[in-house]
Amino acid sequence: MYLVRDVLYVGLGRGIGGGMVLDGKIYHGATCLAGEIGHMWVKENGPKCSCGSFGHLEAIASAQAISRTMIGLSVEYPETEAAISRVTGARAERITAEQVFRLAAEGDGVAQRVVEDVQQYLGIALANIVHLINPGMIILGGPVAQAGDLLIIPLQARIRQLCLPAIAQSVRVVQSKHSSDANIVGAVRLALQDV
Ligand SMILES: [Zn+2]
Repeated sequence: MYLVRDVLYVGLGRGIGGGMVLDGKIYHGATCLAGEIGHMWVKENGPKCSCGSFGHLEAIASAQAISRTMIGLSVEYPETEAAISRVTGARAERITAEQVFRLAAEGDGVAQRVVEDVQQYLGIALANIVHLINPGMIILGGPVAQAGDLLIIPLQARIRQLCLPAIAQSVRVVQSKHSSDANIVGAVRLALQDV
């Protein structure tokens, strides 16, 4: 069995949480707040975060942020509004991050803008973490990860672009088999069972 001792788990749900396994052990930090990567600052003049600050990763790449941005941008684009209505059964407020990724893949320009921002800023955050902890694997969980390869393949390319080749080559990005991750430590345990 291939053993990965250094793993980063990223839960992309309503918020964004993270968990780390370093040298085979879950890393908690001094006050158990290690892995609060949703509040990493990634964008100057970025949108407001749930914590009240601006430009945090969570305000761009959480499931809630993706749906909200998509709905907000679509009001000026009737074709996009029609597409949202089609995939949500006329309940636009229910659009999921996965549906936004699908619409982008189908060629919707607004969805593509939303998804490009997610790839861009999630890529920056992950590339920075990769340089810090040199993980063998990054596991993406939560509703946004349901987008599967539509998320993972461009994200892998982005990490390769931003990281030193030697460190980028050693990290695999995979999707968690578990769609809901209520608790990050529990999620890391589940994620390790995936490996
Ligand atoms: Zn924040």
